Amino acid sequence: MSRTSNLGRSRPGPEWRVAQRVARTDWADDVERCAACRTPVDMREDHYQVVLDRDIDTPGKLSFERQRRVFCDETCADEWTATA
Ligand SMILES: [Zn+2]
Repeated sequence: MSRTSNLGRSRPGPEWRVAQRVARTDWADDVERCAACRTPVDMREDHYQVVLDRDIDTPGKLSFERQRRVFCDETCADEWTATA
């Protein structure tokens, strides 16, 4: 119980921008939860993925941080990005 996860329910702040929104199917034998409605999403099935980028202001170096959210479909992705 020592590991804290930032993933999941917390919504990203305004500094995060949507870099990519894609419908996709992965090969990964993995199940993740939809960030909007918490329904388990099988990565091998059709689902929706949103990639978020944030610039990190490091002196002398341009860098960015990236996170990924998984959704069951476009509707959930829309709903989530609209309220983020
Ligand atoms: Zn969903």
